[in-house]
Amino acid sequence: MARAGGGSGWGQRPPAPPGDPGPALEPPAAAIIPTPGACAVAGCAATLVVPCAYRDRRGELCPSTGCVEHWRTVEGRPYCRRHAGVADTLRLATRRGHQFEAPDLQDRSLTLLRWVASELEGPVVERLSRCGDGRFRTLDDPEPIHVRGDRTRSRPAAWERVWTLADSTGPALRVVLRVEAPRPEAVVLAANHTVLATLVPPWIRHRALGEPEPVPEVDAAERAAFRDQVLAALAAYLEEHPPGRGPAIDLLR
Ligand SMILES: [Zn+2]
Ligand SMILES: [Zn+2]
Repeated sequence: MARAGGGSGWGQRPPAPPGDPGPALEPPAAAIIPTPGACAVAGCAATLVVPCAYRDRRGELCPSTGCVEHWRTVEGRPYCRRHAGVADTLRLATRRGHQFEAPDLQDRSLTLLRWVASELEGPVVERLSRCGDGRFRTLDDPEPIHVRGDRTRSRPAAWERVWTLADSTGPALRVVLRVEAPRPEAVVLAANHTVLATLVPPWIRHRALGEPEPVPEVDAAERAAFRDQVLAALAAYLEEHPPGRGPAIDLLR
């Protein structure tokens, strides 16, 4: 999916679309001058790099440096691969009136959620579109949101990505993909208020166990199996609980 503001090349700023309220994070750098150094991406031979512009909620700056091939600009600032996605989410959230704290440098939960959600995007929308003989439409909210923890409901803070199925009377099903603060290595799939699956992706499991990265074919097969596991959990729920049979769901959780 094309992301507004994700220009190629440093120091370039894409033209603002009509009605664009302008930069939401920090003002863009006037000019980004690469300096000699090593790119953080393994195997890259580039010798001119820039530092990642990401600063977390505590003011810590990302120590990574990268070359023009491997860095991406958001609002005219260069970011490492991980933080470009995080910056995208924060920037778009601000435009929509949300204010989320910039996650800590080592916090990968938003990155994990973004990756899994983009992998599942097509299959989830396709599966939801088969519910209710065309009676429903899918309200897709493409950017993750941060949900604060709520002790009285035993709900931890989390990054969430939501797909809502609705008909003319209101929302009938809310499919939520979530990475919770206490378990940043696991992905939770829920439908309305029911948790359907809590899974640790294979590449994170390997890392936690200190195992070597699998060869690309094995890695691809493991990622596909992980995606299928999540989708199977959703499909099983939809078989048992066809949307629209109960009262409209309460979106005020
Ligand atoms: Zn590079
Ligand atoms: Zn970074």
